[in-house]
Amino acid sequence: MKECLRCGKCCRRIVFKFRVETKNDLDFYRARGFRIKGFDVCAEIPHVCVRLDQETNLCTLHDGNKPFLCRIYPSYLNKRDLNEGCGFK
Ligand code: SF4
Ligand code: SF4
Repeated sequence: MKECLRCGKCCRRIVFKFRVETKNDLDFYRARGFRIKGFDVCAEIPHVCVRLDQETNLCTLHDGNKPFLCRIYPSYLNKRDLNEGCGFK
């Protein structure tokens, strides 16, 4: 069964997607090595979220305050974009 293992990896290497509007924007991101599908750009930031409790690997924000994209993670990503060892992979 696919489930969150509460490893906190997705809060230490943040992956998200955003849509660009123009070919110039696409060229900008493509030239810099971002993954592109259609007009969707997949970005990856090796950054530890300030809301992560690094002892417990749990988010310090309660559900109501957690950003929407964190609450629905990883439903909007392809499996290949998930961290190694993620329970949803
Ligand atoms: S990387 Fe996957 S298993 Fe680990 S906390 Fe994030 S969603 Fe859960
Ligand atoms: S807000 Fe919480 S769930 Fe979202 S990246 Fe930060 S620690 Fe993780």
